[in-house]
Amino acid sequence: MQRDSMLQKLSETKEWDIVIIGGGATGLGAALDAASRGYTTLLVEQYDFAKGTSSRSTKLVHGGVRYLQQGNIKLVREALRERGYLLKNAPHLTSVQPFIIPVYSWWEKWYYAIGLSVYDLLSGKLSLGHTHVLSRKKTMERLSAINPQNLSGGVLYYDGQFDDSRLCTDLAMTAERQGAVLLNYCKAVGFEKQGERINGVKLEDTLSGTTFSVSARSVINATGVFTDAVMQLDDAEKHDIVFPSQGIHLVVDASFFPGTDAMMIPKTTDGRVLFAVPWHGKVVLGTTDTPIEKVSVEPKPLEEEIQFILTHINQYGKHRIERSDVKAVYVGLRPLVRIKGARNSSLLSRDHTLVIAHSGLVTITGGKWTTYRRMAEDAVDNAVFVAKMEKKPCVTRDLAIGFFEERKERLAQIGKEDVAYLEPLAAPYPYTMADIIYAIRYEMAQTTEDLLARRTRLLFLDAAIASKLAPVVTAFLQKELKQSDEWAQAQVAQFTSLAKQYLLR
Ligand SMILES: Cc1cc2nc3c(=O)[nH]c(=O)nc-3n(C[C@H](O)[C@H](O)[C@H](O)COP(=O)(O)OP(=O)(O)OC[C@H]3O[C@@H](n4cnc5c(N)ncnc54)[C@H](O)[C@@H]3O)c2cc1C
Repeated sequence: MQRDSMLQKLSETKEWDIVIIGGGATGLGAALDAASRGYTTLLVEQYDFAKGTSSRSTKLVHGGVRYLQQGNIKLVREALRERGYLLKNAPHLTSVQPFIIPVYSWWEKWYYAIGLSVYDLLSGKLSLGHTHVLSRKKTMERLSAINPQNLSGGVLYYDGQFDDSRLCTDLAMTAERQGAVLLNYCKAVGFEKQGERINGVKLEDTLSGTTFSVSARSVINATGVFTDAVMQLDDAEKHDIVFPSQGIHLVVDASFFPGTDAMMIPKTTDGRVLFAVPWHGKVVLGTTDTPIEKVSVEPKPLEEEIQFILTHINQYGKHRIERSDVKAVYVGLRPLVRIKGARNSSLLSRDHTLVIAHSGLVTITGGKWTTYRRMAEDAVDNAVFVAKMEKKPCVTRDLAIGFFEERKERLAQIGKEDVAYLEPLAAPYPYTMADIIYAIRYEMAQTTEDLLARRTRLLFLDAAIASKLAPVVTAFLQKELKQSDEWAQAQVAQFTSLAKQYLLR
């Protein structure tokens, strides 16, 4: 997957069946869905693939235990089904994750055991393992860092886990193999119309600054928390439908919660859900649910959110976590859809929403990462219907995502250029210079941030180490992209300043 060849293909195509705006989980899922059905497909992303919410999740492929608590069986059942498909189609980026809920009374134990048995039952044949009640002793063995005070036992259940931005990259690469053209750093800035109907999109290549238009039979708006801005490019009078809610995560060393089990706190003392999940050798703590007014590509954590996580997690762990123990803090924005009359963000719809405008613009938003494939299928079905195109069946339910073996071979090939490329750049993190070179040559990485935040996950795992590696990684990027010294210096400066925002000091 190379940007130059994408631009070449773009210039060779007169009209696209489907143009998708937004390169997060939903848009990339739609690109894969549309291309694999045989429609000519273009996807544009204003920054890098997964720059938005899709790189900032809690990394769970899940049905959503708390939606079960709210009685939303349909949503949970659908998400559990999608969880099963994703684990099957992308086994190299997903895994089965055991979760333990610590409980403090006998009735709590049975309440959660029964609830989670229902959760498991709803997954049917796609179950990842059965729910068990654990004794106090067993819970303390498995969650060895748990504070034993008043602990009565635990409830063990299973969900999925994944690497979100790596999955976006693999969705993009798989869509490309199916014939899609995908461009990062390309922003939709307006629409072309014939009468009231959209028949094209005005685009800006933000790397070169050039603007141009493409013709489209149908357009899908999959821009997450930017949904309203894109809808308003079509119809300036359009009211907002997205109610953004911010969630932050703190990443700490695994020594605070050693072992392979995740901990789930279904109800903190102030009634919220909290996770401590092992991820790439660290533990991700989160999250929060804070309604916000203004959306941004780099949202900032609020002090009260940081305090909420530290205070509550420290009630459950034996080893006190201080601010200085946090290796990275990252923030995502949920594109929750406004339901008439709802005020509290936990009451907003967690299901996905599809809107078809008079102009034919198909907008898809809400939902969650786990259900991206289903959202994509709905969006493409509607785009096909609106444009009166020939119907073709969706094939993504059984479509493998990513090219694990091919990647391994190419990495080995890069290692032949210099064996040092296969050494970890900063042990114990496994990332090598071969991973960096591969991402530049085959995964369309264009900036230092693309390499350290989303192709590798160093910014999210250890922002200080990521910052330290910026110059060496940038030197390779400069060479491969044939850029100037000034460009490289600017890249390092931008990344270093960004990495500071991911640190809590
Ligand atoms: C804190 C938090 C934790 C979460 N945890 C989980 C979890 O563990 N599991 C789970 O299943 N779900 C989780 N979710 C939900 C999930 O992450 C989101 O539902 C999903 O990532 C949304 O994907 P998206 O593609 O719709 O939006 P995004 O990922 O935000 O993608 C939209 C893209 O559109 C681009 N864009 C915007 N405007 C334009 C334009 N004019 N031109 C071109 N491109 C444009 C943006 O740059 C962006 O990259 C979580 C969400 C949050 C906030």
